[in-house]
Amino acid sequence: MQTKNPPIKRIKLSFLERLYLPEIFKGMAYTFAQMFKPKFTMSYPEVKWKPKPVFRGRPVLVERADKTGERCVACGLCARVCPPLAISMQANETELPQERHPITFEINMLRCIYCGYCEEVCPEEAIVMSDEYDITYHTRQKAIMDKQQLLVPMEKVQARLDFLREYKNAVRNAAEQAVGEDAKK
Ligand code: SF4
Ligand code: SF4
Repeated sequence: MQTKNPPIKRIKLSFLERLYLPEIFKGMAYTFAQMFKPKFTMSYPEVKWKPKPVFRGRPVLVERADKTGERCVACGLCARVCPPLAISMQANETELPQERHPITFEINMLRCIYCGYCEEVCPEEAIVMSDEYDITYHTRQKAIMDKQQLLVPMEKVQARLDFLREYKNAVRNAAEQAVGEDAKK
């Protein structure tokens, strides 16, 4: 059985609309007006976006304040908790006060999902999520970052460290408050 198509509604254009030019000028006037409104975009990469401390960029290893190496004590917690198994390390003893350190420490950035679990579990604030986001590699091998590539001075990630302390304190206080309220019941 054949079905009937609904009739096409034809809009009647005025004489000016049929000329098209007024509509083109209207469009140009709209575009011109936008040029003087506040911008919400950036001319990246000439202008770089500066993330807030809450941002999770590439994970990095934090250098000790006295610049004698990494703060990491090679406990292996970060590697254990990392969901895609992106972290690997080899531990060794050291003469430094921390007694243990990683002789090798690697993060495979092709695996990293920027979850921040490594940072959360680290007892030494030795691995943190930096504010670096424009990361590119030309080979798969270059995406595996070694200790030297991961190590950054503490000052570079100080804002993130401050943010983490504030966040962890807030979580601890909320947990203590919840325990206190439970005890009262
Ligand atoms: S951010 Fe997540 S995925 Fe990346 S290294 Fe840390 S734990 Fe692993
Ligand atoms: S959790 Fe922290 S201290 Fe332990 S191995 Fe990872 S970076 Fe090092």
